[in-house]
Amino acid sequence: MIRTPFSSLYCFAVNELKNINRVRLVSRDPSYKVILIPTYRCGLKCSFCFIQGLERQFPGDMSVDDLRYFIDWLTANRLRTFLVSGGEPAEYVHFPELMRLLDEHAMEIVLASNGLFGQDTSRLFSRKAVRFFLLNYNKEEFTRDQYQRFVANVRELRGRGFPVGLKLNVYKAQIDREILAVAAQFRCSIYMALSCPGYEANTHVSRERLAALSPAIVSFVRECKHRGVVTNFSRPILRCAFSKEDIHFLKPSAVRYRCNPIPVVNPDLSVFSCLNVFKPYGPLKAFPHLKAIRSAIQPYFNHLRQKPLFDHCVQCPLHRSEKCQGGCLAYKQEASDRPVMHV
Ligand code: SF4
Ligand code: SF4
Repeated sequence: MIRTPFSSLYCFAVNELKNINRVRLVSRDPSYKVILIPTYRCGLKCSFCFIQGLERQFPGDMSVDDLRYFIDWLTANRLRTFLVSGGEPAEYVHFPELMRLLDEHAMEIVLASNGLFGQDTSRLFSRKAVRFFLLNYNKEEFTRDQYQRFVANVRELRGRGFPVGLKLNVYKAQIDREILAVAAQFRCSIYMALSCPGYEANTHVSRERLAALSPAIVSFVRECKHRGVVTNFSRPILRCAFSKEDIHFLKPSAVRYRCNPIPVVNPDLSVFSCLNVFKPYGPLKAFPHLKAIRSAIQPYFNHLRQKPLFDHCVQCPLHRSEKCQGGCLAYKQEASDRPVMHV
């Protein structure tokens, strides 16, 4: 196609609009408003895992009674969809009961998994109950057998008509390109998440290194576009880590500079602000409705947003106008707000 000023302007406008829509779907108004973590156990133990340490904090899985309470709480709040994460949800001892309750209450989930579940678990998935699979692509930490199982599971899920996204943790400049082949072959989208500080302050990418990963991200998105693979950012990015041209190029990959917290319900029904900011807010039973949780979380998120990520952010108009919060707020969470806690 010959590029004219008009066609370039048209592409630009289309990408901007698509980006706005994806930001809405991924961040501003996602289908799920709450995240359930029924277990923090996971057999895989990835080195970059941000929940390391929480499996000791929450050694037990969610009880069936608490699971039922959670489902009833959702029903009272007229919420039909939630995200299930972990730990590895498929290792949850009451996973079959969870699937049964979804059926009984006509609810659906987005399932974030390491993708290594066996046939017995896979048989429990129904198209009505699982709206979307988000599978953590982690070839470097898989054994050969695990990788084969992961790919076989993607193939099977796609064959059964499930939409599948592959989550890519970006923590170094050499991004494994094999994920692209899997995504292209099975028509999966890719969700890029820059690795951020975990519960035990285990940081794979220091804040100083965040900008250094930008060229690798741009080049990866370029290859994805070339192969027709859709990419999305799971978290906000730093505006200043990319040139203006790069930002235009990265769209429509849900490019944004602020996030909206989605509260997490832990195995003991206690509540955290979001998946990476582990500030506890007491038991779910203390909150009659979702709005009350959001109101409790908001002041702390506002406080974190106002903290500069770098000293030079203070001079940045995007910081002063609160348009850029400096990536994931996990980088600014105080150690004292990750307390050892029991409900
Ligand atoms: S607020 Fe900070 S991180 Fe964001 S664009 Fe400005 S200088 Fe960069
Ligand atoms: S603080 Fe980080 S993990 Fe939490 S909602 Fe924002 S970007 Fe997502």
